Amino acid sequence: MNNDLENLYRQVIMDHYKNPRNKGLKGYPHIHLKNPSCGDDITIEADISEGIVKEVRHEGKGCSICCSSASVLTEVVKGKSVEEAKEMVEAYFKMMRGEGSSDELEEALVYEGVSKFPARIKCATISWKAFERLLNGEKDE
Ligand code: ZN
Repeated sequence: MNNDLENLYRQVIMDHYKNPRNKGLKGYPHIHLKNPSCGDDITIEADISEGIVKEVRHEGKGCSICCSSASVLTEVVKGKSVEEAKEMVEAYFKMMRGEGSSDELEEALVYEGVSKFPARIKCATISWKAFERLLNGEKDE
């Protein structure tokens, strides 16, 4: 990856960290996950009905990778069908395993570089793992 692209990716991540989109819970079904090694503590909630991801929101605290990736997640999956969203989750986890990226990930592509830092992969995937469980119909009480 060239330096210009890396700088652009870093800017997008910092923008989402400083100005998180869709932050604050509204009471939809949610999943709460923690990453003790980093102090990340995040709740993702989703309004999924008629097979469509209508809205996704997040709340919590953590490092810039964790908080920004939750914000990016809420934007890229909004309006997608459950099937499309599941494909995006798979593509994102694949990218984190260093197995290549796919344009369908849209803005979430900025996390591609994280796959080279095993200690940060948990930070970048925690919100996506919570969202995956919501897609599968799970939720915390
Ligand atoms: Zn973290």
